[in-house]
Amino acid sequence: MHVDIVPVGEVSAQVKREASDGLRSVYDCEVSMHEPQSIPKGAYDADRDQYRAEELIDLVRRVGSGDKNIGITPMDLFYRRRNYVFGLAYLGGSGSVISTYRLQTSSDGGFSNRSAGEIFSARVRKEIVHEIGHTLGLEHCDNKRCVMNFSPTVRQVDVKEASLCGSCQRDVL
Ligand SMILES: [Zn+2]
Ligand SMILES: [Zn+2]
Repeated sequence: MHVDIVPVGEVSAQVKREASDGLRSVYDCEVSMHEPQSIPKGAYDADRDQYRAEELIDLVRRVGSGDKNIGITPMDLFYRRRNYVFGLAYLGGSGSVISTYRLQTSSDGGFSNRSAGEIFSARVRKEIVHEIGHTLGLEHCDNKRCVMNFSPTVRQVDVKEASLCGSCQRDVL
């Protein structure tokens, strides 16, 4: 499988590296880094001061060259009635997206003694592995340590691992 990562807006070298390392460590895949794209004009919702996740997925599907294409953006994303999303993917689809905006929240509530930088890096890995999992057909997993666990808060993201549980693994690998 070939995954093309598409930066949308200003994405740091560190985030790009974590994203591709995270994917390679979990999936049997080849990862490429697409040239950065600007944020699609239609994605901005002025009332919410946020960006529509679906619009970014459309862009990434259009420009990406992979079997799976995933956008990474620093912008704050929302989807339908949810206040925000860390990422979005359609089950079995080719495009998906993650946002680093709300992954920056400094501490992990004393869950570990890692630095803010390490915590942020781990979150980026988990989110990208999670969304690609959806594009491979995985749904949310009840195992709280599994990367496919539904984790709408950073606290829940911090609790899970950056890898698939045995059962999810059997479904995709
Ligand atoms: Zn999910
Ligand atoms: Zn699982």
